Amino acid sequence: MIMLPDVMRAVVYLGPEQVELRQVPVPEPKTGELLVRVRAATTCGTDVKTYRRGHPKFPPPFVFGHEFGGDVVQVGAGVETFRAGMRVTANVFAECGECFYCKHGQGNLCENLVYNFGAFAEYMLVPTSIVKRTTFEIPAHVSYAQAAIIEPLVTVVGGQRIIAIQPGETVAILGAGGAVGLLHQQMALRAGAKRVIAVGHSQMRLQAAAKLGADPLINAKETDSVKAIRDLTDGRGADVVIECAGSLSTWENAVQAVRRGGRVLWFGGLPSGTKITLDTGLIHYGAITLYNSHGGTADDAREAFRLITSAEVDVQSLLSGELPLEQVEIALKKMIAGEVIKMAINPDLAA
Ligand SMILES: [Zn+2]
Ligand SMILES: [Zn+2]
Repeated sequence: MIMLPDVMRAVVYLGPEQVELRQVPVPEPKTGELLVRVRAATTCGTDVKTYRRGHPKFPPPFVFGHEFGGDVVQVGAGVETFRAGMRVTANVFAECGECFYCKHGQGNLCENLVYNFGAFAEYMLVPTSIVKRTTFEIPAHVSYAQAAIIEPLVTVVGGQRIIAIQPGETVAILGAGGAVGLLHQQMALRAGAKRVIAVGHSQMRLQAAAKLGADPLINAKETDSVKAIRDLTDGRGADVVIECAGSLSTWENAVQAVRRGGRVLWFGGLPSGTKITLDTGLIHYGAITLYNSHGGTADDAREAFRLITSAEVDVQSLLSGELPLEQVEIALKKMIAGEVIKMAINPDLAA
């Protein structure tokens, strides 16, 4: 039996650009839940969005952070698959498996999707349906921070399943070198893409993309990226364009940069209510197919975890270093500045 403290340190989100390290009660696992001691919680674009404008599913105050690897310290009644001492990670969401969408293989759209936040803390709960469907034991050769990257990879696996890249295709990634861009490009190359054209704003991130096989690199700050992609493809445009920058201009550029008969995947979400302007002639007479992808299914989660543990996808290259719990805000600001890809928050590090 592990003796647990009554209170713990946790980073509480209070409102846009307002976070505070507080002492809060250590939660107790109810039926089907796990209590995990967080060993690494990785920062993510969603945390940045939350920091800037809140999260649609969680009214403040709440403990944020959602990508984690840690040790099970207590299990709720009825949990049989996991026990204290196991190293685990979990996806941030799980589907119910029962509703209309789940029955149609679209668990990412589940009507009863359960989300889980609370990773920027010493301890966090994992809810029952996530324990049942999208929690995994981390093998010894995988670090807590590497395992934590399951969540963005789940969404990328979901997107790649939809876009179905074919051998020999040229894929352009808008928003290359960020965590999601690096995962998409690796999946594209695994699927047999002939080349990945990396388009981004941060030279550091473009270099990260180059290290993982992207070539050529286009710095969108200095170059007209649509023209550059067309120039690289005999004027046609890329076979596939994946938008993962999450900006209005890249959503529109994606359609300009794809070839006739090509496919666009809009992956980076924009705030609800955002309108884009598209030339219907270009899309219709160019027979361009437009795909959207958001989240992933429980099957995608299993596949993402397999890709991490088998090292078929390099997640270590997404980790830019470690910071203590006291410095979550600094980590998010480094993300916003494009200085890092992901930081691992380690509650055991001294402030
Ligand atoms: Zn995330
Ligand atoms: Zn469902």
